[in-house]
Amino acid sequence: MKVAFFSAKQYDINAFDAANDGGIDFTHLHPSLDLRTCVLAEGHDAICVFVNDTLDAATLEEIQKLNIKYIALRSAGTNNVDLKKANELGLKVVSVPAYSPEAVAEFAVGLMLTVIRKYHKAYARVRDSNFTLTGLEGFNLQGRTVGLIGTGKIGMCVGRILAKGFQSKVIAYDIKRDEKAAAEAGVEYVDDLDTVLKNSEIISLHAPLLDSTKHIINADALRKMRDGAVLINTSRGGLIDTKALVEALKSGKLRAVALDVYEGEEAYFYQDSSDKVIHDDLLSRLMSFHNVFISGHQAFLTHEALAGIAETTIKNLLQLHAGEECPNEVKA
Ligand code: NAD
Repeated sequence: MKVAFFSAKQYDINAFDAANDGGIDFTHLHPSLDLRTCVLAEGHDAICVFVNDTLDAATLEEIQKLNIKYIALRSAGTNNVDLKKANELGLKVVSVPAYSPEAVAEFAVGLMLTVIRKYHKAYARVRDSNFTLTGLEGFNLQGRTVGLIGTGKIGMCVGRILAKGFQSKVIAYDIKRDEKAAAEAGVEYVDDLDTVLKNSEIISLHAPLLDSTKHIINADALRKMRDGAVLINTSRGGLIDTKALVEALKSGKLRAVALDVYEGEEAYFYQDSSDKVIHDDLLSRLMSFHNVFISGHQAFLTHEALAGIAETTIKNLLQLHAGEECPNEVKA
């Protein structure tokens, strides 16, 4: 089976080499997939893609014309694929629904500590031989109310770490409750989103990006949050209306924000733009706030998660190739 592997980074190649016993012939392609680059998939049976590859209707039509049969996502989120169109075209799509939720959950908690205890500022100061502490005051996580939006695999893990490890009070909103897991994790469900927004000192986003969750954190939601709230997003950039977030930051409403994902990240994340000008004014504005920490969609990046992604993706592809049912097939 020949697979065109888009957005290939050395850490992906290493993880897939370790998991592949030769059953799949991968062509590693550094460009990300879009309408211009999809021609690189010619001569392959399948394509393998990541979060910032674009699989819109036009790209999928071209992919189908190249006789590609399968699309293997190396991610849990499927928001970058027009699933309806893929189904119409008879393209089978598979994903990796679960791979080390702890990787993302631990990173999310790390982001909380980073912006609350100001690790990033301390690092920069000490590098400059400045050992003063003024301005680095933070607060304890113990006893603080943390609100989760989404309590699936990652959200519940964040809740468990905070409730059991830090003894925080963890409240959560989810459209689908898992009462048993919540009780075990020490997470308390509340009835609506507003209760999370109004009562949390820290809010962490763990819902997928869907039509129903796009801009779930908009101007109205930001207004409802407590003054001085901390907002953490390790899920998808589109959950936040970035313009409204910038306004909230300018007004001093929020104490700090940490983002591992950003609405327009496709244009910049996973690329070195250090010798270029950033044309995205919202991203530049976010980067300019002293109380905003941004990382480039790296929450998943642990050895355990990379190995899990590689193993599941290879299994998915081999099952499709053998004409077997794949439990990780995703449909619109
Ligand atoms: P999951 O499917 O296990 O959980 C998602 C939860 O969100 C579900 O419980 C669902 O009911 C809930 N939800 C859906 N709509 C909601 C709404 N309107 N309000 C509140 N809750 C809602 O997914 P997961 O494995 O926990 O992953 C969550 C998200 O994290 C993924 O969709 C992906 O976007 C993101 N992610 C990011 C990274 C990263 O590197 N930053 C890595 C993996 C996943």
